[in-house]
Amino acid sequence: MQYISTRGAAPVLAFDDALLAGLARDGGLYVPQSWPRFAPGDWRAMRGLPYAELVARVIRPFVGGAIDEATLAQLAHAAYAGFDHRAVAPLKQLDANLWLMELFHGPTLAFKDFALQLLGRLFDHVLAARGTHATIVGATSGDTGSAAIEACRDRDCLDIFMLHPHGRVSEVQRRQMTTVVSANVHNIAIDGSFDDCQDLVKGLFNDHAFRDRVGLSAVNSINWARIVAQIAYYAHAALALGAPERPVGFAVPTGNFGNVYSAYAARAIGLPVDLLIVGSNSNDILTRFFQSGEMRIGTVTPTLSPSMDIQVSSNAERLLFDLYDRDGAALAAAMRGFRADGRLDVGEARLKRARTLFAAARLDDAETKAVIAEECRATGEIVDPHSAIGLAAARRVERPRDLPVVALATAHPAKFPDAVEAAIGRRPALPARLQDLMAREERCMHLPNDLAIVREFILARATARDGKRTAA
Ligand SMILES: *Cc1c(COP(=O)(O)O)cnc(C)c1O
Repeated sequence: MQYISTRGAAPVLAFDDALLAGLARDGGLYVPQSWPRFAPGDWRAMRGLPYAELVARVIRPFVGGAIDEATLAQLAHAAYAGFDHRAVAPLKQLDANLWLMELFHGPTLAFKDFALQLLGRLFDHVLAARGTHATIVGATSGDTGSAAIEACRDRDCLDIFMLHPHGRVSEVQRRQMTTVVSANVHNIAIDGSFDDCQDLVKGLFNDHAFRDRVGLSAVNSINWARIVAQIAYYAHAALALGAPERPVGFAVPTGNFGNVYSAYAARAIGLPVDLLIVGSNSNDILTRFFQSGEMRIGTVTPTLSPSMDIQVSSNAERLLFDLYDRDGAALAAAMRGFRADGRLDVGEARLKRARTLFAAARLDDAETKAVIAEECRATGEIVDPHSAIGLAAARRVERPRDLPVVALATAHPAKFPDAVEAAIGRRPALPARLQDLMAREERCMHLPNDLAIVREFILARATARDGKRTAA
């Protein structure tokens, strides 16, 4: 199995190299050169498998020969062993043809754990096999940071440095990062905004000498391995509801388009997915795209669903690649225009193709709160603001009456207690594993918004690519 860039001008890589590379060198994203296909009999054979075994089966053809089968099975088993629910991704029926899939039983209470718990282990395995070491650096405005830290903690071949804007993440989110006590985990609070943090990370990646010395790498949502890991819960839900004989639809609260693109990938490998419903908050570039065929960048508005406060959805490029008939040069030109003018129009024919599968709806904060309140009243379920948006989108769009639709609950309501309290008048409790979060000791470095200082801080603590200390 080989991976090609959506912009057609980067080296073709095997799974392990695409894993470590993240972004392709031409600025594109890696996608499989061709999709593996599962026949109906293959899907039927996966029904009822324990979750980790299902993951290993789904991922196997994507990994090719890069990791042997027994190791892959072991890594998948370890990745999901720490989830708090025996079903890992339990389904709850809400009404005749609507289900909720809870993706928040992992260590940091959001769906990102599904991909990152596996990704951290895949990284560590591949690096150990090569006798090398990597330094993960990232910026976070909340959810991604804690999931990445939990995924990388205590791994021999990884150090992780996570930047967050000082005083601008919620206390629960900060504590989920800063209370992880592990020698290879480094939290840095920057005097600045989330954008300043992102600029610092970009600055580090652009410093090629530094990049090579510490083996700089990223685990952000454009990493192909994250997409693949997420295919498994779509298969898990579809099989439970009657696939491969019976088609299903999914409703996904969407920011960077990584999660819903995994559902698209599930369909590409043969799962009968008939409808994908994208839910947006006020930052609705994707909803406007699926309505008009035009992607136009606006300014980011802070909302009650901060993990979707995004204006450029990086992973949408993977869908565009197919809409441009996998013509990397044509897409590269379109993306240059998008960067320059802030707009990209795919035209009537491509829009029509996209709309055979995708539908979209947008909710503002007032509507989001109303949905949380109404859902609690009608079904007793307390959903977080992100999940509420997906759920409401599922109810709003036109869909075949007999198509079962699964709405994804992407975060535990206790991660967003203020928004939930504003909607229903009470605060959801943290699950047992995080009950003492507010009492735990924090460890975090506070640094100015200064690239040289951040770089020196990392150099003094990171391990070089060859496994030796970088500092004297
Ligand atoms: C990251 C995140 C999203 C958005 O997922 P994408 O893959 O970026 O579309 C939605 N909900 C929650 C809770 C998240 O953490």
